[in-house]
Amino acid sequence: MKRFALALISLIGFAAGDALAWSNHTFAAYRAFEKMPEVANAAPVTVEPLEAFLKAQEAAIETLLAGQEAWAQSHLEVYPPRPATLAFKASAMQTDEARRLAFLKALRVAPNSKFALYIQPDPWGPRPDHATMLPFVAVDTLPEQPNSTYRFVGLKAGDMVSPLSVLASAADEPDYGLDINLWADSPSDWGKTYGFGALPFGNPALYFSTQAPFHMGFYNEDRVIYMAAPFIKKTFPLLRTHQYTSLAALAFRTGHPYWGWRFTGLALHYVQDLTQPYHASLSPGNSSVKLIGINLLAMAGFPRMKDEMIVLLSNRHLALEKYQNQLIYNAAQSRQETAIEKTLRGGDKDASYPAWSDLYARDVVSRQSYALGARLTDILVDTLPSGYVSDPSFDFGVKESGIDLVAELSQQDATKRAKLDGAVAELLGNFGAHSRNVVRGVLKAGATK
Ligand SMILES: [Zn+2]
Repeated sequence: MKRFALALISLIGFAAGDALAWSNHTFAAYRAFEKMPEVANAAPVTVEPLEAFLKAQEAAIETLLAGQEAWAQSHLEVYPPRPATLAFKASAMQTDEARRLAFLKALRVAPNSKFALYIQPDPWGPRPDHATMLPFVAVDTLPEQPNSTYRFVGLKAGDMVSPLSVLASAADEPDYGLDINLWADSPSDWGKTYGFGALPFGNPALYFSTQAPFHMGFYNEDRVIYMAAPFIKKTFPLLRTHQYTSLAALAFRTGHPYWGWRFTGLALHYVQDLTQPYHASLSPGNSSVKLIGINLLAMAGFPRMKDEMIVLLSNRHLALEKYQNQLIYNAAQSRQETAIEKTLRGGDKDASYPAWSDLYARDVVSRQSYALGARLTDILVDTLPSGYVSDPSFDFGVKESGIDLVAELSQQDATKRAKLDGAVAELLGNFGAHSRNVVRGVLKAGATK
């Protein structure tokens, strides 16, 4: 079992290589909320720096964060307790800078995170004036990727801003370096003090691998897989959603609606990531028996099938995200609605799910997404050019920026493409419904009466 576990490490390590999921959560989030009255009709809020919120509410935050730690210890199946020295302590004497640092360390997020005052504008709206834009590095601590579609507009304390834009912008923010290098074997000072232990899977030297255990959740694998590879249970999207939803509720209750919406957006990200079946399943479309068989062969000196499976998993994962992002971005650029915008707005399925709770992301979202994995994989294999999704000698990640999936598919059989578009629309329908259910839950918890 030990050797099998070791072999699985590399399998999962590669599957988790691209941990960014839905390429830009903000674009989809604008559509998911633009018709939800609680968001769309909410009054503009006053922009407030993080330091001001922390200073005003530090006693309440101390109590809340102590409660979060107790919750995590009693509700999460695998949870390395937070070292006592990292607990947040209210102290009116400390500087704003010291308080902010103490807060980020108590949450165990990267202490160099920007938490800038900004929004990412709706791509359907007017192009932002260049003079209002912030450089990428003012918002995100990670390297900017080629062909980036990011545009950040700076805000100032006291500005008025729509809750929709705060919420949609923050939904992408956890991919801006917040969960990078938090492990004992990470190349960072803070990782050694956070108590999370070593990175459970993936390569600790690759920064994007280090965020994967916060943005993926393997809650639905077969028992035999957990027995062989117990480390795959060491994932923390539930911790993050609990932290940010309860902070959001506190901010709403205490008269800081800007931070209410911002923390809600941060929490949304993790729920939305789990609607991507490749983030909720170790190997969508492959049975546990096959997984184990391929690993046994690899251990016996025949690694070819395993190596090929790893490449195909990664290529399908990336192709799906690339296609989805292209559809959403092209629709915005050309001002042409597609089925995706409609299903994102949806609304008719929201009430068919249980009300939001702290375990909703595991019990509702990832369960549904895991179950969709096999059918989705069949559709990807059947509809995308086989060179991209069925050829293990092709590396989609390396070639990605030169690939235009929408253009290639538009020259193919329209019925086939409709099947893929239907599957993407279904996934984004789930993205929208679960996102709105999170907001309903937070607003209820944050209501003052
Ligand atoms: Zn993510």
